[in-house]
Amino acid sequence: MLNKGSKAYSVLHRKCPHCHEGEFLVSRNPYDLANTGDLMPGCSVCHRKFSTEPGFYYGGMYVSYALALVQSVSIYVVLLVLFPETTQTTRLLWVLGGLVVFSPVLYAWSKALWANMFISYKGVAPVVGEDPKWRMKEQAKKLA
Ligand SMILES: [Zn+2]
Repeated sequence: MLNKGSKAYSVLHRKCPHCHEGEFLVSRNPYDLANTGDLMPGCSVCHRKFSTEPGFYYGGMYVSYALALVQSVSIYVVLLVLFPETTQTTRLLWVLGGLVVFSPVLYAWSKALWANMFISYKGVAPVVGEDPKWRMKEQAKKLA
């Protein structure tokens, strides 16, 4: 399930959704705040683009929201079950703290998840019948 070729591999390792080998994000470290969530212009291994249209990653906001919601509810429930003596204010502060601390990670994962919802694994080699405009090298030749 977590091997190369599965979407979970691409999301967790933040690899190219097409070939699962090239880097998806500019920085491997989500806490590199200057580059958090910045995508590579395309895959350095298979040379495919990471976006199907302008504004493609706006949809990742919904994924980020869902991840933040799951995280917040999880923190709240863990505190409620394991530390029932905590006050509502303390639980709220832990939830908010969790959002601040993990937001760069959730942001990176949300973009990788969004990309993997629409881009399927193809491997490095071009797929038969693949639209050449997906490949950056082909686009560069057209522009030259
Ligand atoms: Zn690739």
